[in-house]
Amino acid sequence: MKERARFAPSPTGPLHIGGVRTALFNYLIAKKSGGSFILRIEDTDSKRTVEGAEKHIIDSLEWLGLNFDEGPVKQSERKSLYKKSVSSLIEKGLAYYAFDTADELEKARKASGGNFKYNFTTRKSLANSFSLGEEETKRRVKAGRFVVRMTVPENKTINVVDQVRGGLSFNSEELEDKIILKSDGMPTYHLANVVDDNHMNITSVIRGEEWLSSLPSHVLLYEHFGWTPPKFYHLPLILKSSGAGKLSKRDAEEQGHPVFAVTWEGSMGFKEAGVSPEGLVNYLALLGWSNSSDREKYSLEELVKDFNDGGINKSGARFDYKKALWINHLHMKDFSAEKLLSLSDESSTRLKEKYTLEQSEEIIDLIKERLNTALDINKELKVFLGQPKEYDLAVIKKITREVVFDILNFCKLSKPLMSDPKALKEKLMGFASKNGISFGNIMKSLRLCLVGSLTGPDLFKIIKIIGPEETLNRIESLTNKI
Ligand code: GLU
Repeated sequence: MKERARFAPSPTGPLHIGGVRTALFNYLIAKKSGGSFILRIEDTDSKRTVEGAEKHIIDSLEWLGLNFDEGPVKQSERKSLYKKSVSSLIEKGLAYYAFDTADELEKARKASGGNFKYNFTTRKSLANSFSLGEEETKRRVKAGRFVVRMTVPENKTINVVDQVRGGLSFNSEELEDKIILKSDGMPTYHLANVVDDNHMNITSVIRGEEWLSSLPSHVLLYEHFGWTPPKFYHLPLILKSSGAGKLSKRDAEEQGHPVFAVTWEGSMGFKEAGVSPEGLVNYLALLGWSNSSDREKYSLEELVKDFNDGGINKSGARFDYKKALWINHLHMKDFSAEKLLSLSDESSTRLKEKYTLEQSEEIIDLIKERLNTALDINKELKVFLGQPKEYDLAVIKKITREVVFDILNFCKLSKPLMSDPKALKEKLMGFASKNGISFGNIMKSLRLCLVGSLTGPDLFKIIKIIGPEETLNRIESLTNKI
């Protein structure tokens, strides 16, 4: 069956990584079946709507390549549909008007000793169309200050199925007559969500587990309307790295990693931190879904092919930024030279000025294995763009002037070999043993001259690329500093 799955965020703030994962699982379940991925913006609560949030949601999905087939459908534009649905329930006694003021409700709450539930046990003693009679109800409805609540039947067992956890049973006693239409004429989440899922022919509802407790009310609403409910999947939380609780923006900041796909009000997103959309999508898929093998790298298309909803985990998954960077690394090392160069505009322009296209590609090949994020590209290209600007002082202390001069002399005589990394290395090894200097010591000194620290790719390949003149210049420069 072709699934129709919708991602239905409320634009009450930026799209958090938990929301991104929900969107991704919606996408995967829809696409796996050849169906549709739909975006619905649940913006019925105008007081909580945050400017720019809808754009942030759309920008994030776009950057990640999670292209929606329909939408965005905006609930705020569908008010009349909800009103009509509510009227049909009121006519059948499956929903009713309630007129209680905030003070009255507070009083009832206090009188109940903190156990108050607006339902069949209390309904009769409160101000609503069940307790007030037809005339009074009409008068108050005309006055316009009311909400509409759903009628929860007495002593009914409500059986629900969550595809992640299996069957669950609730007694209607546990439920409230939830408000479904607010005093401003707007539907609440519960009503709009059910009405829209039915009207949009949604076949699978995939959302965060915080909505599991609303499921019996939703299932009851489907029953009231006489509609068949879709399948439900409630995804476990993304936990902070310590495992203690839900990952928040603050935890992420403390751990020094992003929590949004793209930037929000000055906070860096994964995009700005140099993580690729391919890497983030891959990491998030593995966060909450177990594949049957230990395979780690997947493209979005491969995920669509391999994803199986039986592999969705029941318990929360800890966010692990190191693992996210590792997965990103697996993608970056398979990117083409052209793509990697496009990810670092400043250094790549300079690289192209200095080297031929072939050389630039050779350089990119050399640094590929060392990239975790796009920001690493600039760092790794530095060695090919000029002399080190600073030297690792701790290493300077460990090397000797004599050895650096020996290397300088060796290099002066070995210029013709510099375009042949293997031959140069062999000759340098011979030179080291003939002069009784440890090869390790020579390598350390040479690397410091050329790179400024003990990091970086294969030294002999660096020499081949920067050439004999630049190599000698860099060694000479260091002789002036030690
Ligand atoms: N608007 C809800 C949210 O932002 C959607 C929940 C659902 O998908 O049903 O979490």
